[in-house]
Amino acid sequence: MLLPDKFREECGVVAIYAHPEAEKLAYLGLHALQHRGQESAGIVSADGERLRAHKAMGLVADIFTEEVLLSLRGTLAIGHTRYSTAGDSALLNAQPIMVQSNKGAIAIAHNGNLVNAIAIRSKLEGQGSIFQTNSDTEVLVHLIALSREHTLPDAIADSLRRVEGAFSLVMISRDRIFAARDPRGFRPLAMGRVPAQPGEKEDTIVFASETCAFDLLGAIYERDVKPGELVIVGPEGVASRFYAPAAPQSSCIFEHVYFSRPDSLVFGRSVDQSRDLMGRQLARESAVDADIVVPVPDSGNTAALGYSAESGIPFRLGLIRNHYIGRTFIEPRQSVRDFGVKLKLNPVRSLLEGQRVILIDDSIVRGTTSRKIVRMMRNAGAKEVHMRISCPPTISSCFYGVDTPSKKQLIAANKTIAEIRDYIGADSLAYLSLEGMKKACGEGEKTTYCSACYTGRYPTALVDVEEIQPVATSR
Ligand code: SF4
Repeated sequence: MLLPDKFREECGVVAIYAHPEAEKLAYLGLHALQHRGQESAGIVSADGERLRAHKAMGLVADIFTEEVLLSLRGTLAIGHTRYSTAGDSALLNAQPIMVQSNKGAIAIAHNGNLVNAIAIRSKLEGQGSIFQTNSDTEVLVHLIALSREHTLPDAIADSLRRVEGAFSLVMISRDRIFAARDPRGFRPLAMGRVPAQPGEKEDTIVFASETCAFDLLGAIYERDVKPGELVIVGPEGVASRFYAPAAPQSSCIFEHVYFSRPDSLVFGRSVDQSRDLMGRQLARESAVDADIVVPVPDSGNTAALGYSAESGIPFRLGLIRNHYIGRTFIEPRQSVRDFGVKLKLNPVRSLLEGQRVILIDDSIVRGTTSRKIVRMMRNAGAKEVHMRISCPPTISSCFYGVDTPSKKQLIAANKTIAEIRDYIGADSLAYLSLEGMKKACGEGEKTTYCSACYTGRYPTALVDVEEIQPVATSR
């Protein structure tokens, strides 16, 4: 197993209302969101009468064959691609989660992490509820089923008020799609529309974690689902209600730093623009005399372009990424030094030889990968390696739907910047400032951000995390 030295993507969700091949649009949407989770994927469709589901471990393109998609024919669909952040990585926990309730059959797909799920679950289990999975999402299904409200929209709104934490979710019933975001808007969820084709009665309404999914579907981005909003799409049209009062916005800034695709709009803002501005700001904050700017591909590419443009130092693709790596790889018996990193990245010796290099990456988590990359650059002939990181030091774990190592494994939580520089073997090391990152991401323009993994100030209470004494609010 090649251990990742990055924060891991969370999940991606998609929903389609009123299309003759809704299941195929959901499939395409999931394909565009594959970077948000590669462990399992699932689609639940509806045809006005009943729900049909298929989910499996693996990649979207491998799970959904022509035959599987044929078995999912419907006019409504939701989909989910998962990397586990809560609950084990197993088919049992793959989503969407489908249940029969006294309000009819429903299925739910969730991106985020509920910070009071364990507390709610033990209470419900005490009252006799039997859980099928160990995923935090299942508590929502139970809350909906147990709600005293009489209609499904009311039961959903009632349940959403009882959970804390990060959730961007889509739900499907026999004839409706529901989409909701938590009151702080941690995770993104965009809404769009595929205009009706000649002969079709109505536009198709779509929801997705990122707008890159809309581009593949031919959908036009309309707006984000707002924090605290529940959007209901059904035979009567699109309806919106706010199930909870507004809370201080805490959109995940790491979506702009690393997770989301640069061709997406996230929280209504271009990810490419944010990364370019982060690179430019980094160049202003931590200039250094050098010959070339080299990104750690792919996530460092745009920030490196920004750094190069601002500094006037030429941009060079001095590291090449191999995109065709699975999760495991057979190593020769006589082990190769830095094997895992070498499988993924290879330096371009002819570009690096004798050069003073500014190496741009989007984060240092444990430091082990950065150390190997710096060594690789030197072995390829680089005269100097100056590491620049397009965000501040990551010092705290995330509890809002992102898989992060514990605090004791985060190098910046335990070492000074000078110590990290020495550990990774760079000639110099600098990070983007917190203010610089927020400015580059347009803090205060369309949203304000959560930056708890850089500050340790969590915007909510962390009910399930006993060892952490949370700060009630970051702003
Ligand atoms: Fe995003 Fe970090 Fe906040 Fe988690 S703690 S939601 S990764 S900014």
